Amino acid sequence: MPDLRRRKTKIVATLGPATDPPGILDALVSAGLDCARLNCSHGTTEDLIRRAEAVRAAAQRAGRPVGLLFDLQGPKLRLSKGTSERRVVVGEAITFSSSGRPDAPGHAGVDFAGFARLVTERSEIVIGDGVPRFAVERTDEDEVLARAVSAGPIAPRKGISVVHARPELPAVTDKDVSDLDAAMAARADFVALSFVRSAADIEELRDRLRAGGSRARIVAKIETVDGYEALDQIVDAADGIMVARGDFGVTAGLARVPLMQKDTISRATQAGKFVITATQMLESMIDAPEPTRAEVADVANAVIDGTSAVMLSAETGIGRHPVEAVRVMSLVAAAAEESPVIHGRARVALHGDITSRAVMHAAVMLADELEARVLVVPTETGGAVRACAKFRPDTRIVALAHDPVVADQLTLEWGVQPLAVDVGGSPKELIEQALVITGELGSLASGDRVVLTAGPRTFSSGGTNAIVVRELP
Ligand code: PEP
Repeated sequence: MPDLRRRKTKIVATLGPATDPPGILDALVSAGLDCARLNCSHGTTEDLIRRAEAVRAAAQRAGRPVGLLFDLQGPKLRLSKGTSERRVVVGEAITFSSSGRPDAPGHAGVDFAGFARLVTERSEIVIGDGVPRFAVERTDEDEVLARAVSAGPIAPRKGISVVHARPELPAVTDKDVSDLDAAMAARADFVALSFVRSAADIEELRDRLRAGGSRARIVAKIETVDGYEALDQIVDAADGIMVARGDFGVTAGLARVPLMQKDTISRATQAGKFVITATQMLESMIDAPEPTRAEVADVANAVIDGTSAVMLSAETGIGRHPVEAVRVMSLVAAAAEESPVIHGRARVALHGDITSRAVMHAAVMLADELEARVLVVPTETGGAVRACAKFRPDTRIVALAHDPVVADQLTLEWGVQPLAVDVGGSPKELIEQALVITGELGSLASGDRVVLTAGPRTFSSGGTNAIVVRELP
């Protein structure tokens, strides 16, 4: 049986060429990886499938659930191939167009037919990682005239973002549909959608997943100004949120990133949804064996803000020290959890509520009041566990899921150790089996106090109606 793990914040790491060599993925799992991310923007479909299979095999070897997250590229615009490479100065006017000659003086091409229809006079156009930035002066059927407010390079294939675009771009592109097929074939636990602008984007992805027979949980990446403005509706529609600081920094400007992060973590966790804080968390470790002081403070601050998970991107995908990056992140997160105040605890909101949710709230209170070693929650769909986890108890939650998919889908819940185990029967039998399993978890001893939840239909959704306090035999 795996050890009862000390860290409550979860770790997501992006796989890539740096994690492909034999043994690296196992080492990442031993170092504390909770969920592997496959970034569909890079590599081939074969790479996605091969890495997904490697994650399942590594989880099997480790004997514990590891989540699998496919991150869809979403509608990403690029300057067209023919655009001339040059440096734009402040005040310079550029005409952007998807038709016409991209290499004409004062022009740049965009690889999306009908680009001009996306842009309004309130829009801003941003190239690459944030510069140059343009204010839109005029739009017509085919062209957009914009003037540079910051200097920077333009070049063929560079990314281009439109702030306050009309919702003309598809939420799920043709490439996403093909990557989604790979995700469903690999039985992904989570699918992240990039450049989400509204709850409707999430609904569209959910319809596609359900039509394909997938139960994957949806992560909405908050990385556009429009997405952030619609945050509450998106939180409502999605299963979890990613604070995608990279592209948000591009579209909103870097100065807006810190408060957006804090606000998004707060609103997502109040709604009982998990939230992943992402991008450049230990960026210097792409090359260096140790992070900077500023980076460890960034990870710690995200933990204290109440993030459910912290994410590594290039640090593990292409970095020189992928295992060390996970190890450092795990140590820093665990140390930060000693903070006297950790945000993210949902306020009680039980209006019009069903019994099981009130029971879960009471179980959390009881476990903390009694300083129980663990709160053991058998679950059918994961709902009972999420209903506990959102209150962020001091007591660790052990989730017993007889469906391994549910166990994998609980890997991003703060403070939850999911186990895929075949327990069931009457509530009495369930409790006895749960006690045996809990007793086998590392670092628990005979006589330790535990709180368990159960019910006549515990293994059907919403059936929990009992709380039991026991000591481990
Ligand atoms: C981000 O922009 O911060 C992000 C996580 O998305 P991606 O890595 O796909 O750019």
